[in-house]
Amino acid sequence: MNTSVRPPKFEVAVVGGGIAGLLCAFVLSKNTSIEVHVYEAAHQLSEVGAGIGIFSRVWKIIEELGLAESLLPLANNEAALTFHMRKSDSTEGLSFHDMNDLGINSVLRCVERAWINLPGTIMTFHRAELQQAILKWLPSSCKVHLLKRLTSVDEPDSMDLPVSLHFADGTTATCDLLIGADGIKSEVRMSMYRSRAAKARSQGKEEVADIWMRYLRPVWTGSVAYRGMVTKEQLMSLNRGSEPAVCKRPMMYCGSLRHVVGYPISNGNIVDIVAFTTDTDLEGAPFDAPLVSVVSNEEFVSKFQGFEQEVQDLLRFVDKPTRWAIHTVTPLPSFVSKRIALLGDAAHAMAPHQGAGASQAVEDTYILTSLLTHPLCTQETLPFALEIYDRIRRPLANAVLEGSRRAGFLFDFNLPGLREDDIMQKGADGTLRPSMEVLRQVGQTMDTIQEWIWKRAVQKDRECAITMLEECCSRGSLRVD
Ligand SMILES: Cc1cc2nc3c(=O)[nH]c(=O)nc-3n(C[C@H](O)[C@H](O)[C@H](O)COP(=O)(O)OP(=O)(O)OC[C@H]3O[C@@H](n4cnc5c(N)ncnc54)[C@H](O)[C@@H]3O)c2cc1C
Repeated sequence: MNTSVRPPKFEVAVVGGGIAGLLCAFVLSKNTSIEVHVYEAAHQLSEVGAGIGIFSRVWKIIEELGLAESLLPLANNEAALTFHMRKSDSTEGLSFHDMNDLGINSVLRCVERAWINLPGTIMTFHRAELQQAILKWLPSSCKVHLLKRLTSVDEPDSMDLPVSLHFADGTTATCDLLIGADGIKSEVRMSMYRSRAAKARSQGKEEVADIWMRYLRPVWTGSVAYRGMVTKEQLMSLNRGSEPAVCKRPMMYCGSLRHVVGYPISNGNIVDIVAFTTDTDLEGAPFDAPLVSVVSNEEFVSKFQGFEQEVQDLLRFVDKPTRWAIHTVTPLPSFVSKRIALLGDAAHAMAPHQGAGASQAVEDTYILTSLLTHPLCTQETLPFALEIYDRIRRPLANAVLEGSRRAGFLFDFNLPGLREDDIMQKGADGTLRPSMEVLRQVGQTMDTIQEWIWKRAVQKDRECAITMLEECCSRGSLRVD
């Protein structure tokens, strides 16, 4: 009797072993009819930086994927998980808003884990712990190839020929579907848009080619972020009589063109710090220094001179802070071609001011893998699935990208009507004081920017994507209404 094993319905190459690539590889590998290879440039899979926030809307995906139980112990689940905003750029700080509180946070804090299901809350993780957990779940059928830096991609027009991947070590690989999860400087994105530009040029459309070329490289926002960690023990050693607020909940310390974010990770034993300075005139300018560098604590602390004591206490213990030039991807007109899909930062690297990059990467993975693992998705219908992924995910991801830019301006008191000059108002005695009225508007504007978090569940988007795939397949046409 012939017991030959059926060949996989398609072979997938995932380029990049960050959170997006690994999670995608994990979900696809669960489907035995899909063969998955991960190609990673580094010699080992590791994460740079400390904290990462996951919105509760994304936690529902984690639950659906069956990963919640193993991840929950890694989350900082003791804290009240909405950001508390303060105006902090003077010796006397001033509390003015709880972000996304929706008026229920204080009640539900008393009920164990009830906050997990609240739309405005976030769970915070240590990046490396999260990545290592995903790595552990990868089945042995998923092959991870390290030291494979992708240098170019060939996507033939004919669907009968495979996509070819070329690596820096001179080797090549082929696949039916290429998923570019290779981060902000994505070679997959560059190859995709370079080839569009080349095609336009070959048709004499120079202007169109120039437009495609704009999407290749990320652009500097004019901001730098200083990152580091302190332990709760260090903060407690200051003996100010009580546990600092930031050990218990995420804090947003706002100031004119500078702001500091702190939130507890590793069950509240560590506080992750990201502190930003911005020169808006430099948005879009080239950044002429290494994108990431280690700086001295003195340089770091000097940037936030004049901030309230609570912030000074946080910054003084940060050992070897790193400075990151914050770049973003120009919102793309497409995340896909016929057999290539961009995922995570490769598709929509955004400023980290909503802490939404990783959550958006998980949402991409959820929609894309739901389509790819659907029984109707085959080699032939793959272009439908990718087109639908693009139609469903791109509008939201690009809107979150733009919202993150605005959020940065807001925390820096740098939006029209909400600038430092608008906030500081003369009292009856002639002294300048912050206006609570204007600060409340700052808080409300932030809640409006983040409405996407609770307005539409990502599960609805998934349902919509599956319906579109079924309709496309029954019509046999690529038209996606
Ligand atoms: C300062 C800062 C703070 C942030 N804070 C948050 C937060 O609180 N919450 C949040 O959700 N997000 C946050 N983000 C964003 C978040 O880090 C990213 O959105 C997320 O890590 C993206 O994951 P990714 O897998 O798409 O990309 P990456 O993590 O960048 O992974 C890409 C992988 O691809 C590999 N690679 C790159 N090029 C190649 C190549 N040519 N060939 C093969 N492999 C390659 C890389 O080595 C890497 O392993 C922050 C970002 C910054 C800069």
